[in-house]
Amino acid sequence: MFFEKFRSFLHVEFEELYQEVILDHSRRPRNFGEMPDADVHVHANNPMCGDDVTVHLKLDADGGLDSVHFSGNGCSICMASASMMTQKLKKKSRAESMELMHKFHEMLTAEQEPASDTRLGDLQLLKGVRKFPLRVKCATLAWHALQEALDKPGQHGATLSIEDE
Ligand code: ZN
Repeated sequence: MFFEKFRSFLHVEFEELYQEVILDHSRRPRNFGEMPDADVHVHANNPMCGDDVTVHLKLDADGGLDSVHFSGNGCSICMASASMMTQKLKKKSRAESMELMHKFHEMLTAEQEPASDTRLGDLQLLKGVRKFPLRVKCATLAWHALQEALDKPGQHGATLSIEDE
């Protein structure tokens, strides 16, 4: 069976990918749910996998992230990544958020695996995703939504949407 072969082939990597912390976030996502009074909502979907999430942001006076929520449905990697993102970026300034976003993206997509960066904390557990190019989109979906909101300041009250091809 395909699955059996696939499983033995990639067993080690999958073990690494689905660590307990990741599973816990995917089963019990943090900061999960609609946020009716959010300043910005950004909807994003990944048709390759079926992930479909909306990131809800409350911004502070300087454009920093006062709070971050997300809602929707996705695979374990998508849900875990979004959940960890909301925890990590809460109360971060705009500049700090941009930097963490960049570091996270680099960890998953840079040709050379970057050295570990403790500022990413638990998000580093998602590093194994870089070995599965199709799953990288799952892991970065919520981040792309967040980036869309930060790239377009002054969108208070807006609902944005991105199509992740
Ligand atoms: Zn996915």
